[in-house]
Amino acid sequence: MGVSLPRKELFDVPEGVIYLDGNSLGVLPKGAAERAQKTITEEWGGQLIKAWNTAGWMALPQVVGDRLADLIGAPAGSVATGDTLSIKVYQALAAALKMRPDRKVILSDNGNFPSDLYMAEGLIKTLDQDYELRTPAPEDVAEAITEEVAVVMLTQVDYRSGRMHDMDAITKRAHEVGAVMIWDLAHSAGAVQVDMAGSNAEFAVGCTYKYLNGGPGAPAFIYVRPDIVKNIEPALSGWLGHDAPFAMELNYRPASATERMRVGTPPILQLGVLQEALKAWDGVDMAELRAASQRLSDLFINEVEARCPMLTLASPRDANARGSQVSFAFEHGYPAMQAIIDRGVIGDFRAPNIMRFGFTPLYLDDADIVAAAEIIEDVMSNEHWREDKYNVRSRVT
Ligand SMILES: *Cc1c(COP(=O)(O)O)cnc(C)c1O
Repeated sequence: MGVSLPRKELFDVPEGVIYLDGNSLGVLPKGAAERAQKTITEEWGGQLIKAWNTAGWMALPQVVGDRLADLIGAPAGSVATGDTLSIKVYQALAAALKMRPDRKVILSDNGNFPSDLYMAEGLIKTLDQDYELRTPAPEDVAEAITEEVAVVMLTQVDYRSGRMHDMDAITKRAHEVGAVMIWDLAHSAGAVQVDMAGSNAEFAVGCTYKYLNGGPGAPAFIYVRPDIVKNIEPALSGWLGHDAPFAMELNYRPASATERMRVGTPPILQLGVLQEALKAWDGVDMAELRAASQRLSDLFINEVEARCPMLTLASPRDANARGSQVSFAFEHGYPAMQAIIDRGVIGDFRAPNIMRFGFTPLYLDDADIVAAAEIIEDVMSNEHWREDKYNVRSRVT
């Protein structure tokens, strides 16, 4: 048995807000501001450069990496932190291609998050060796895993629909044809049970500002399967991935573990905040969290469908085939979401017509879900979204 959920007392959510966007930017953990303040004033301000040793800054990326490893079913030392997820995608992909020099196909799917696909395109251009990126529909991916494929790179949970790939089955299929497997866990870490070690995949990457509540710009992470890490060639061979950064050697010599996937100076302020945020996961049983997430999202679907016939479910109805989010399609989804947000229920909108809601059992309960559905019903049945002010697009949707 894990600690009981939710743990609302650990977070600062504004009064009157029901936050259904923790899949995009998590909420503020209570200890975060104090931790940032301490790092700035006492450590940076008071100890200056000594803080790399005296305040544990140098060890922090690995300490946080080990905590993340635990959350994704990976052994200590197998996860490195830093940079952003897009960079980690690039590194994993570059390393994976090096492992299969005789193959030219990168297989992803057309439901993947654009940045993952853009990074693949950029890498292909840089390498300039006739690599090809294939993006079939998500449901056709398994069949598209052929012996031409060097790397299968997929995001487990679809950012728009919440549809979830079967990690074990796809990894197995990739390995059967000799392809390398990369999983993007952006919408999985802290949302669903992940067993990286059990999956046998070579790489995983993810971010920490979504379900893990690390805050805007929080560092990303990368997992490399321990038995292959010594043969992995880092494409971005920065000094902090070096085996001995302060030896100041003229040539690059990678660190022995996943630390070789680090690049430059770690973001200490953000890492400290993330370390604080991860305390909310202490004692949480991921199976219980997943069960709570499924209960909340099933309840949401039932409540919204009963109240809002104009909305069309755009996520799998089967909770086992979904991550921790539910999407509804609606032609006027953008203004509708603005009107809903204006009434205290925060979700988001993804082009062209998706209204997206995330479920975070650490700080949501059944009463929140019913209250949110009532507000959505009010906006939809009274067509509040027709008001002009909701029809002006912001830069971030
Ligand atoms: C959120 C997300 C990203 C964002 O990448 P950043 O470099 O952190 O901005 C990339 N890929 C996926 C699958 C995501 O869900």
